[in-house]
Amino acid sequence: MALYEESVHKAFDRIKHSKLNAYITLDKEGALETAGKVDDGKVSGRLAGMTVAVKDCITTKGLLTTCGSKILSGYVPPFDAEVVARLRKEGAVITGKTNMDEFAMGTSTESSYYGPTKNPWDLTRVPGGSSGGSGAAVAGLECRMALGTDTGGSVRCPASFCGVVGIKPTYGLVSRYGVIAYANSLEQVGPMARNVSDAALLLDVIAGHDPKDSTSVPHDACYTDHLVEDVKGLTIGVPKEYFGEGTDKKVDNAVWSAIMKLDKLGADYKEVSLPHTKYALSAYYIIAMCEASSNLARFDGLRYGLRIGKDENWHTTFSRIRAEGFGEEVKRRIMLGTYALSEGYYGKYYLKALKVRTLIKQDFEKVFKGVDVLAAPTMPTTAFKIGEHADDPLSMYMADIDTVPVNLAGVPSISVPCGFAGKLPIGIQFIGGFFDEPKIIRTAHTYE
Ligand code: GLN
Repeated sequence: MALYEESVHKAFDRIKHSKLNAYITLDKEGALETAGKVDDGKVSGRLAGMTVAVKDCITTKGLLTTCGSKILSGYVPPFDAEVVARLRKEGAVITGKTNMDEFAMGTSTESSYYGPTKNPWDLTRVPGGSSGGSGAAVAGLECRMALGTDTGGSVRCPASFCGVVGIKPTYGLVSRYGVIAYANSLEQVGPMARNVSDAALLLDVIAGHDPKDSTSVPHDACYTDHLVEDVKGLTIGVPKEYFGEGTDKKVDNAVWSAIMKLDKLGADYKEVSLPHTKYALSAYYIIAMCEASSNLARFDGLRYGLRIGKDENWHTTFSRIRAEGFGEEVKRRIMLGTYALSEGYYGKYYLKALKVRTLIKQDFEKVFKGVDVLAAPTMPTTAFKIGEHADDPLSMYMADIDTVPVNLAGVPSISVPCGFAGKLPIGIQFIGGFFDEPKIIRTAHTYE
């Protein structure tokens, strides 16, 4: 059997015997077809023959796309998201669609209608979220790389919990055309892979201007050119707000050891402050929920997916399908977002959150005048137990403390593994200024 076809068979064999539940939909037929074409020399490109899994909120032509929700069961998009079109153009072998928190709302991949994904390092623990299926599939060798989306940490959190690399690109660098929106002013598609080189390669393929996305920014760069092992003269800022109370001691130690290693390799480090960090979680959850409540209005029971009962009038159909189709966390966020946007509360919550967002962005702008990159824990802890936060959504939201400021500001960040606590991986994130992906990739690659 030819080389790439054989690698597809191997990956699907592993998936067949896997306990991870990393995928919602598999496309073995499509994967074998592409791999066969690569073997025959009919398809080539920078990702030729490489297996790539795609998060289930990214549309794939002819392939079920559910966003981890019952409301989209049966929805087969008639078009590819721009990022998927770019994967195909470069010869990628798409293995299937990965599991996720419903509509990307979560930090654990437990809120999926299709059941939780398990952490490959410990099956009793979560893989992180919301791109937990992508993280687990990469770590569990069920694909070579994967796409996730990061609205408030959803690429970096599963990268950290599963011991892989994940990049949240600068807002506007990667097209969101065909990405089913959760909170569109915050989210970006990001690569996940087992090393920085693969993640940079995947970023090369998906980044770049797309006229179909009005927030897409024309910006050309070759990220793989920056896979250079050299941090001499680089100044690393260590934001004090990302350490200390609430951060696991082992995480703290592992991140500091990584900073010391970079110091030995020729970088300098200094402590810095991002004083508005303490307001980031509140601002993030208000903005994200407001945007979600508006974005999810399109799921009206008529246009996409789920059909149940007989159609009476529009109001009954709309209510019945939304009541049955959305899960608890999604409903909670639609209600809170609608409340915060309603007359009388809009100024108090939504506008206030936008003002805080500006302060957080300014914190980053100021700090990057004095340092090249920031280094901080990706997550304050290692992967938690499945069900640990089940009765307390607020305690789960708190886990996003180190990831959401980056999305509010729009700057890029890469998470790389930096050690273990017992058998559980720990992640460090390197944050850069706008379009400073080359610098954070170089730092992460040198460290790795
Ligand atoms: N955990 C965050 C949330 O629930 C981030 C999710 C994401 O990045 N999609 O909103």
